[in-house]
Amino acid sequence: MKDQGTHSFFEDVVRNFDLAAKHLSYPAGLLQQIKECNSIYHFKFPVQSGDNVEVVSAWRVEHSQHKLPTKGGIRYSEDVNEDEVMALAALMTYKCAVVDVPFGGAKGGIKINPKKYNANQLQRITRRYAAELIKKNFIGPGIDVPAPDYGTGEREMAWIADTYSAFNPMAIDSAACVTGKPISQGGIRGRREATGKGVFFGIREAVQKVDDMKAIGLKPGLHGKKIVVQGLGNVGYHAAKFLEEGGCVIVGLAEYEGAIYNPKGLDVEAVMKHRKETKSILNFKGAKNLKNTMDALELECDILVPAALEKQISHENAPRIKAKIIGEGANGPTGSDAEDILQKKKIMVIPDMYLNAGGVTVSYFEWLKNLQHVRMGRMGKRFTETSYGQIISTIEKMTGKSLSHIEKEKLSMGADEIDLVNSGLEDTMIVAYNQIAEIRKQYKGITLRTAAFINAIDKIAKSYLELGIFP
Ligand code: NAD
Repeated sequence: MKDQGTHSFFEDVVRNFDLAAKHLSYPAGLLQQIKECNSIYHFKFPVQSGDNVEVVSAWRVEHSQHKLPTKGGIRYSEDVNEDEVMALAALMTYKCAVVDVPFGGAKGGIKINPKKYNANQLQRITRRYAAELIKKNFIGPGIDVPAPDYGTGEREMAWIADTYSAFNPMAIDSAACVTGKPISQGGIRGRREATGKGVFFGIREAVQKVDDMKAIGLKPGLHGKKIVVQGLGNVGYHAAKFLEEGGCVIVGLAEYEGAIYNPKGLDVEAVMKHRKETKSILNFKGAKNLKNTMDALELECDILVPAALEKQISHENAPRIKAKIIGEGANGPTGSDAEDILQKKKIMVIPDMYLNAGGVTVSYFEWLKNLQHVRMGRMGKRFTETSYGQIISTIEKMTGKSLSHIEKEKLSMGADEIDLVNSGLEDTMIVAYNQIAEIRKQYKGITLRTAAFINAIDKIAKSYLELGIFP
């Protein structure tokens, strides 16, 4: 699908891949293998709606099986098309490589507007989609593991897991066929907010780099940074919330019905409450309304976080963007036609394939939990607390000094599931950012996106070469 006579989404991904690949010296055949989509499954099935039956289109694309299972979200949207699913599947491959999650990339989608259907219909659609994937071996803990994306959430993932286990009653690992499930269905604590929290960790890491901030005219550190967030769904809401808690000022928020702006700051929770009550983000106390939601992207701010959909920033609006940093919460929000303009304007783009990788990182932890059949922290928490308690009392005896009850409790605390998930996520985001930042320094003049692609291509190419598939 073409956009304004420019590139399709998948062509954008390929273009970014090629920009990076020219800095590397891998054989052309190997690079071709990495960038192609390996398996594309397009299917249709009937959905009953009242007295009518409509036939809906659905896809699952497995971009690369260099590591298994493949992994990627399922999107419900009227705009879903094959090119988009291919692009998102490819991005998943590179994303997993960037954050060292040992999966290949995949993506799925159903071309529906989920708001048009009630919960029963959505359940039937989701279960039918899952059944079609099962029939073709396009889902399974070691094959392909979906997750939520735009328009889907924990509820849909629970239906998929339940359908899979009904078809595979003897499969003890069946919960690992999908991630992003509710906790009661084998989900993991921290998955719901993981992508937004990852966006926060990534931006925090980027703004700590003194030289990089100097180059774009910003003070290092998060405190007081003015933020605009587009999209208040899973990614956008959590990103806005964690950035606010981290000391940033949320000056603009955009949803599809419009946007609001207050240079003194918007209280994210209060805006969410207002939207729930009035069904609109507009007319929030003290804020200015922007009727055209796209205008939010051009607001005065330090950091713009597009967290709704792809292709929001194009050659058309890029010249008017005032942010110094674009933190890509969504997948593909910047069209390749905008990249050169942003680079000339010295706007730093923290790319999607790194910045929104928190979701797949914690999905990986959920998959591990499902295969282990034990909650993380369950085996070691009490043991750690007892050992640390013994160390503290030995030190107290040796020094003759004693700590307060609260101090002792803090020092001897063992890690629970949520502590381990957050610690793993934070470490992953910090390590990956520094890898990309290092590559950007090595290859002078490249963007963070090209650096992230170089990082991903290098890791994937090595895994093919070490298998001996390519000479
Ligand atoms: P979501 O459905 O929870 O939220 C998307 C939000 O964007 C909705 O509130 C929707 O109303 C809003 N929106 C739609 N069109 C808009 C517009 N024109 N302007 C402003 N807001 C608009 O979806 P999500 O899971 O938060 O996903 C958002 C993006 O993040 C997608 O690109 C997705 O691929 C990407 N992503 C999601 C995850 C995840 O874990 N959910 C992980 C990685 C990447």
